[in-house]
Amino acid sequence: AQLPADPNTENSCRSVENAVYSWVDPTPTSQPTLINFNHQLAEQLGFSDEACQSALFTQLMSGNALLEGLKPYALCYGGHQFGQWAGQLGDGRAINLAELKTDQLGYQTLQLKGAGKTPYSRRADGLAVLRSSIREYLCSEAMFNLGIPTTRALSLCLTGDQVIRDKMYDGNAEFEPCAVVCRVSGSFLRFGSIQLPASRGDEKLVKQLVEFSINNDYPHLKPENDNFTSETYLSWFKAVCANTATMIVNWMRVGFVHGVMNTDNMSLIGETIDYGPYGWIDDFDLGWTPNTTDEGQKRYRFGGQFQVSQWNLFQLANAIFPLIGEVEPLQSIMSDYAISYESQWQQMMASKLGFKDYQGITDLHIFQSLEKLLSEVETDMTLFYRSLASFEPGTDPTIHFEHCYYQPQQLSERYLSELNAWLQRYQARLSFDGLSPEIRLSNMNKVNPKYVLRNYLSQQAIERAEQGDYSELETLKLILTNPYDEQPDYDHYAQKRPDWARDKVGCSM
Ligand code: AMP
Ligand code: MG
Ligand code: MG
Repeated sequence: AQLPADPNTENSCRSVENAVYSWVDPTPTSQPTLINFNHQLAEQLGFSDEACQSALFTQLMSGNALLEGLKPYALCYGGHQFGQWAGQLGDGRAINLAELKTDQLGYQTLQLKGAGKTPYSRRADGLAVLRSSIREYLCSEAMFNLGIPTTRALSLCLTGDQVIRDKMYDGNAEFEPCAVVCRVSGSFLRFGSIQLPASRGDEKLVKQLVEFSINNDYPHLKPENDNFTSETYLSWFKAVCANTATMIVNWMRVGFVHGVMNTDNMSLIGETIDYGPYGWIDDFDLGWTPNTTDEGQKRYRFGGQFQVSQWNLFQLANAIFPLIGEVEPLQSIMSDYAISYESQWQQMMASKLGFKDYQGITDLHIFQSLEKLLSEVETDMTLFYRSLASFEPGTDPTIHFEHCYYQPQQLSERYLSELNAWLQRYQARLSFDGLSPEIRLSNMNKVNPKYVLRNYLSQQAIERAEQGDYSELETLKLILTNPYDEQPDYDHYAQKRPDWARDKVGCSM
């Protein structure tokens, strides 16, 4: 079934009811130039490098040209922001350009982010600045190459236009270059897409949206003869929960903090979406948030991401309740969600430590005491797990792990004895599995990345790009294509955050 469009085709801010999207064209820009494109994704979409290097590609990917037959649109959705219902939000600076049927990836939607005002722009300008576009471009592909469900990024264009944001120079607001990223996903529907019509009592639209999501993104759940029942909707909700759990477990595995897990930023297919004030864990700290507007409450802190996902899924459950009519089945799926997340987390931790399998409560104690150690003194999460793979019994841990500590001179006697005790338990546990050190190392290196998009690294690429030098952006992109591999020429990209970058979070949107 086709989803209903907003009959009003004027591009003015408004409340849109009984419709899922509004037709809107991207705003032409003054001087579009292509900064970078994603060869790997282009190939999967069926675009040749020549096509991506053509003038037409730049025109299309910056919103300056449309191909015959393309009818761009912006999606209407709502959401809970920081726990408060925010009403209608929608694609305020994103415009869906085209849907492609690809051989390798099935149906994919190409979406321009920063392509001008839409009916959902509210009081904002619909534009994106270069720094936030680089952050999205680099991070979504870094996540993809880490094996984490995510929207992808095909291209990054400068538009030639400038805008004033919150950046200050000598107390003066500074003009910043604008950019457009072309994002790609099988679906840009969010929890908030369902929540908005539900909040308006529009049960018909809720039903249409859920069925659309089933038909397009969960086709294995499609009932025979389109005979949708509450059972179908429940299996769909269960599948959304399963995909969400997988996504969050993976975030915890690599130390990714989304930073703004509002329900309008939660994908119905469980992809990481909307790369705004995200950040990567340097020193392991479950309480850390990259979002400077969330520093008081820390709602979206690293260690709170599962609880927030659960809260968000509760809101989605509420939104589809009218299709189900009973509370119990939804409650039971939510309880299973917690159980299933817990068990996936245990498996994930077992794999990070190089265990064959999770062996129950004694393993849980090993994980918990390790997290306590990592939190006790500032320890780089990525470096620590990577080094743990090559730790050999009998060697001095202070030497082996020295490069992982932010203050290696300040390790207390008590800490060192706890670390030694933990390593002994760890060794004993490894002996139980009996894997050879080589196999264990190779297994661990497949789940513990060597290279992640440290906040200071993207900041450096941004500063260079703002001077017109895109070489650092290209280098980072290449390194992060193979995050689990040793890349000896780039060892200096796999080091702890330098001291000068300590308080410069560099996680602004
Ligand atoms: P976010 O927190 O980035 O997910 O954004 C929340 C809402 O604000 C979404 O509906 C966005 O589309 C909208 N928004 C954010 N930035 C802009 C902008 N520069 N222009 C228009 N809408 C925006
Ligand atoms: Mg958003
Ligand atoms: Mg800390």
